[in-house]
Amino acid sequence: MTLAIISHPACVLHNPGGAHPERPDRVIVIEKALAEFAFKQPVKFYEAPLATREQLISTHEKNYVDWIFSVAPRKEVISLDEDTWMDPHTLQAALRAAGSVPFAVDLVMTGKAQAAFCNVRPPGHHAEYEKAMGFCFFNNVALGVLHAINQYGLERVAIIDFDVHHGNGTQAIFQHDKRVMYCSSFEHPFYPGYDAESDNEHLLAVPLPAGTTGKVYREAVKAAWFDQLARFKPQFIFFSAGFDAHQNDSLAELKLVVSDYVWLTKEIAKIAKRYADGRLVSVLEGGYDLDTLKECVPAHVNAMLM
Ligand SMILES: [Zn+2]
Repeated sequence: MTLAIISHPACVLHNPGGAHPERPDRVIVIEKALAEFAFKQPVKFYEAPLATREQLISTHEKNYVDWIFSVAPRKEVISLDEDTWMDPHTLQAALRAAGSVPFAVDLVMTGKAQAAFCNVRPPGHHAEYEKAMGFCFFNNVALGVLHAINQYGLERVAIIDFDVHHGNGTQAIFQHDKRVMYCSSFEHPFYPGYDAESDNEHLLAVPLPAGTTGKVYREAVKAAWFDQLARFKPQFIFFSAGFDAHQNDSLAELKLVVSDYVWLTKEIAKIAKRYADGRLVSVLEGGYDLDTLKECVPAHVNAMLM
């Protein structure tokens, strides 16, 4: 079995400039670290295709998709909100990032890969049905989830979102969709500051105060997620893989270290093995400290493999 790593040069070109933390170097250092890492299984690198219009409107409102295409600048940099900027390369990068996840699903579902990692930017989990925000334009993971459901007839899919920010977009897209179990851990109170509370039993939020260590983190997500996942029996599991809950990431104040990411990934891989034939796709979200990304991403990806 093979590990698939998917990216695209366009993901490096998207560069609104300034001191924006969501910068091209993130994907560059990850690609290099992945290329140098000795994985348990053979690795194959792929270029992400463009997301199709059909995939985009499976997840987002049609008028919103048209609007993003219409405002995409030819020369200048525009801002959709205070931290979500578009330059002339952003639309192409967003389309590759969004297209990477359905493509990863195809590789895994057809047995060409056991697991896949999408090393892409811009990230996606803040993008809502009809709204770009928080560096995100299209909800990359949501496109993959809906592709798995629509193209392969899957009935139960889980998303594990360990980015330090709550994935408000992913929650909004799937809040009334019982086919999708959304497990998210995040610093709280913190950006985006929406109410993550829900009576919905397929939305499993784990809000954590600033300063939370790996030990407390592990207990909290184990208690909130593992039994529920076993009851749900997901047929496919996605990671929304943000590494900004690491203690060295300056955007937030959780205190995770590499062994916490490896632990969580292995526990989820066991669940995937039991219920989902081992099918796992992980998609980069946040994570802004380059040394942390170099260390944590290969370790996380390797931990997905049996
Ligand atoms: Zn984040």
